[in-house]
Amino acid sequence: MPDSRRIVVPPQSGRSIRVSRGDLILIIDPKGQQVSDLWAFTTEPTLDWLSTSQTRDITERLFPGLGDSFFSAAAKPMLTLVENASPGPHDMLYPACDSALYERAGFPNHPNCRDNLMQALAKEGISLPFTPDPVDLFQNSLPEPDGRLVVSASINPPGGYVTLRAEQDLLLVVTACSVDYYPTNGGICTEIHVEITSTS
Ligand SMILES: [Zn+2]
Repeated sequence: MPDSRRIVVPPQSGRSIRVSRGDLILIIDPKGQQVSDLWAFTTEPTLDWLSTSQTRDITERLFPGLGDSFFSAAAKPMLTLVENASPGPHDMLYPACDSALYERAGFPNHPNCRDNLMQALAKEGISLPFTPDPVDLFQNSLPEPDGRLVVSASINPPGGYVTLRAEQDLLLVVTACSVDYYPTNGGICTEIHVEITSTS
């Protein structure tokens, strides 16, 4: 019997989620226009993590396409995009938002995806000396023809979601991005839901 669980990621926060190989992972934006940063890790036998640069290289794409996998730093498939019930786009160029970004924008001590990642990992007993770049689901930041990078408001509608299949047993971290000024998340931070369906 398929077994389902739903995790709510409150606005401007992050959650760690363990999944098993074959699990289906829905990442849902209930209110719309909310970016969700996604990381994936394996810790056994050695630490490995989803690498957006390896993924761009191996899939020969700037942004994930339906049926494409996301690869680790060690070039192992970690997740596959099996359903895209969102107009996208999904970014694989930007780092996570961090305290330095908000300080540059004039907002010191602001919640941010990097700190939320590190706090979620700390609860799993993991401390990283670096921050892998995330997959920024629903982030509307396609490059301009002249190569400039501009973040625009997400066009994900309420209820827009993606479905990923776990290709390994993984530790995921999912955030609801913390940018609470226009345009990234439409000017307001809302929650993200994650639904895990195990088929085994
Ligand atoms: Zn963020």
